[in-house]
Amino acid sequence: MSSQFWKPGTEKPRLLEDEEGGVVFFSPSLASSSSGYGHASIEKQRQRLPVYKYRTSILYLVETHATTIIVGETGSGKTTQIPQYLKEAGWADGGRVIACTQPRRLAVQAVASRVAEEMGVKVGEEVGYTIRFEDVTNKVRYLSFEALEFYLIYLCIVIMVDEAHERSISTDILLGLLKKIQRRRPELRLIISSATIEGKSMSAFFQARKSRHQMEGEELPRMEPAILSVEGRGFNVQIHYVEEPVSDYVQAVVSTVMLIHDQEPPGDILVFLTGQDDIDTAVQLLTEEARTNRKNSSGLIILPLYSGLPRAEQELVFSPTPRGKRKVVISTNIAETSLTLEGVVYVVDSGFSKQRFYNPVSDIESLVVAPISKASARQRAGRAGRVRPGKCYRLYTEEYFVNEMSAEGIPEMQRSNLVSCVIQLKALGIDNILGFDWPASPPPEAMIRALEVLYSLGVLDDDAKLTSPTGFQVAEIPLDPMISKMILSSSELGCAEEILTIAAMLSIQSIWVSSRGAQKELDEAKLRFAAAEGDHVTFLNVYKGFLQSGKSSRWCHKNFINYQSMKKVIEIREQLRRIAQRIGIVLKSCESDTQVVRKAVTAGFFANACRLEASSQSGLYKTVRGSQEVYIHPSSVLFRVNPKWVVYHSLVSTDRQYMRNVISIDPSWLLEAAPHFYQQQRLNPIVH
Ligand code: ADP
Ligand code: MG
Repeated sequence: MSSQFWKPGTEKPRLLEDEEGGVVFFSPSLASSSSGYGHASIEKQRQRLPVYKYRTSILYLVETHATTIIVGETGSGKTTQIPQYLKEAGWADGGRVIACTQPRRLAVQAVASRVAEEMGVKVGEEVGYTIRFEDVTNKVRYLSFEALEFYLIYLCIVIMVDEAHERSISTDILLGLLKKIQRRRPELRLIISSATIEGKSMSAFFQARKSRHQMEGEELPRMEPAILSVEGRGFNVQIHYVEEPVSDYVQAVVSTVMLIHDQEPPGDILVFLTGQDDIDTAVQLLTEEARTNRKNSSGLIILPLYSGLPRAEQELVFSPTPRGKRKVVISTNIAETSLTLEGVVYVVDSGFSKQRFYNPVSDIESLVVAPISKASARQRAGRAGRVRPGKCYRLYTEEYFVNEMSAEGIPEMQRSNLVSCVIQLKALGIDNILGFDWPASPPPEAMIRALEVLYSLGVLDDDAKLTSPTGFQVAEIPLDPMISKMILSSSELGCAEEILTIAAMLSIQSIWVSSRGAQKELDEAKLRFAAAEGDHVTFLNVYKGFLQSGKSSRWCHKNFINYQSMKKVIEIREQLRRIAQRIGIVLKSCESDTQVVRKAVTAGFFANACRLEASSQSGLYKTVRGSQEVYIHPSSVLFRVNPKWVVYHSLVSTDRQYMRNVISIDPSWLLEAAPHFYQQQRLNPIVH
């Protein structure tokens, strides 16, 4: 395979934005809201879905089995219908809650609003949802996905772990945890649902349990899992491969879409790309192409679909295509299984998605554009056969598909940094992490790395137990432990107000509007706020400016700042402030003393310290711990400034490893922040 094929042409470094999920809840009817399962048309639609035929079987299996595994084609009605069936059958009566977990944020919102519509209620009434930093339920005030387990354990009677094939860390933790909880709460019912899951291996996981003593007369469900396959009614999909590997898949997408539009009968097109960057580029190129190509001057509606998308734009994607038009939706792999788009007849599959990879030796985690698995490729193709026979255009060769594409993806647990995962488990009182019953065991090196970092952060003690108060406080904050530690340190350093702003800013993809075609203007705008200390202090300047403008959208527009992002920052900051208050952080401002701010950042992020190579003109840095080669990302205000010592917030990799959000530090702070981490031999290069 030519290596050219695998080098994405136009990819720029950027973080994956859709890595987090949430939960949809179904609670009992409120006294007066007699929910009108009103419109007959919606009722009819519901009855036409493939799962409807299985309604009775599903209810029977859930009643009689502790765990039910349901496999059914995407679009068959698993997510939206099964919880409703359970609710209609009375499972949510008596104050109990039915929960359905989703590994993707956008899907949580879309599912909750679709189901609320079907039930004739408002989101937040009988159907609610929680995702990090947003809570639309009437029952819970604030809940992160990380803290959800508590809620799930005590209130839920049925928990549906949806999209279980995605095997995100959260899904794996949840599966392990639920298996454990089930032993103590035998009345709890689990549903594991997916479009592509291997029913047998999931069943084996839930089967391997200790036997339970059953009291006489006690009516308990059977412990061995039931497996149900929902027969879909997918149509045949014709697969087309490229003859030669393509070198630039964004360009290939554009020409393939235009070819379909020119030569094929009506029907919408769904394109799978990897992330916001290449999606936006493809949308722009296609829009231009459609405009200049006279034969096709009208008729194409080109829409992006990814997680950061505003609600109004999401709705466009779901709305029916007007007569005589052809919709082209360009999506991340969220449309692979989580969301169903009606009317799709053609699929264009780039063969890539954004995936997280972690190297425990270098301790570097990066999001990279990587080839998908055969399972994903089949699933993507299947999206073309929903309404009638369809076609799938794979932008890779048949030979590659057959001989080189891996059969299944690797669980995220086995390719991630496990710091957050370990702390979640510790906070749940699970001390023997290595002995935890994982659906897939994490690599021991990654586990040891995570324990080492948490120990250095002062979160775990010598016995690997949470420290008090630091460990418990860090576990209370629904953020990366490094950010939490930075917040805790800011309390002592007297700069919590500033650090909360920075923490909120770091939770956002980007506060700048994307620069397409206006790079110079964007750079100039950035200069107005740029601080010599680095990006974190620059954030403080932007935040101050935004407040002084009276939170004006015009001000944002003028300064190339994303107004929606800034509103989100204000919201997140407010939530963090409440948590900080609750755990006893002293909320003080350091006014303009940026040194304490940088010290607080260092206290959290000392593990990400890097030093400029003395001989390097090209801005080459090496990480202090692993001597990995890294560079400052072009979006940073320190790009080309290259201070001698920096810490970074995250890395992204394309051709190189780039540090995103960088701040300059004094190396002596590293010793202060983490004496045991930077042991003597590592310090030597620091001291001279
Ligand atoms: P599954 O979980 O099995 O993939 P879903 O329950 O998500 O299926 O969807 C079932 C059907 O409901 C879809 O085929 C689609 O017709 C319809 N549907 C789901 N979500 C929406 C939505 N947001 N807007 C319109 N129709 C939807
Ligand atoms: Mg679904």
